[in-house]
Amino acid sequence: MSEKPHVSKKHPRAESIKIRERLTRNVETNVLALAGLIAHGRGEAFDYILGEETTPSAFKAITAAAATILLAERPVLSVNGNVAALCAEELVELSKATGAKLEVNLFHRLSGREEAIEGVLREAGADEVLGVGGSATARIDEVFSDRRRVDPRGIYAADVVFVPLEDGDRTEGLVRAGKRVVTVDLNPMSRTAQFASVTIVDNVVRALPLLVSEAERLKGSGRVELQGIVDEFDNREALSDAMTVMEKRLHTLAEKGIFIEPYDV
Ligand code: ATP
Ligand code: MG
Repeated sequence: MSEKPHVSKKHPRAESIKIRERLTRNVETNVLALAGLIAHGRGEAFDYILGEETTPSAFKAITAAAATILLAERPVLSVNGNVAALCAEELVELSKATGAKLEVNLFHRLSGREEAIEGVLREAGADEVLGVGGSATARIDEVFSDRRRVDPRGIYAADVVFVPLEDGDRTEGLVRAGKRVVTVDLNPMSRTAQFASVTIVDNVVRALPLLVSEAERLKGSGRVELQGIVDEFDNREALSDAMTVMEKRLHTLAEKGIFIEPYDV
């Protein structure tokens, strides 16, 4: 196990450092591939620019995402190493609130990883986990790489797939295969962010608890109300808003150049 360095609560990146430690531990347990660490770093860079908080526009996307998943006939939550490491409990809660199935789907199907992720989900309370142990027998031709192998009871038959922190090739393939895709991605310029029907530009650790509470709030609503929320949402606008927040923040900081006050340790 890696050593746990002491992180002062006043450290401006305390939260981010704790998350990094969690990810490192998950590499040791085989849940996360090394490439997952690099993907996380790319996300963090955008979070830094975004201001490390959920924007009002990201919150609108969260509401639209909850409505989209609740309206779906066969929704599936696709789980990779990063989300399993960061948000297993919330994924299980979201699955219970919406009736969506959980499916492990990996870029790197290295031996033992599917099972390690399944273990994390079961520990978080999941009753059923698809895509594990040879059950990914169906194939989505539009998707390249190992990720084209999917569970016939899950992503293969799904009408809506939630794919947080996903690679662009796969998102494009799922969209081409006629599925509605909902994602969480800090980079509004990534291909996933651009191709999805609903993109939540936020850190998955902030967005998922909010998505669960929105799903719980909306689950008693009628289809007409849910459809109204979905129809009102415009992903182009959501991405545009996220870029504008980043642009304005950078603009304000650029006027100062130096903007960080020294902090007491
Ligand atoms: P794309 O393939 O969509 O063009 P990419 O190749 O830049 O994007 P990938 O590594 O394929 O990126 O996908 C991971 C995505 O997840 C990245 O866009 C990254 O910004 C995002 N990401 C990583 N960690 C987080 C996080 N904690 N919260 C939200 N998004 C994250
Ligand atoms: Mg990619």
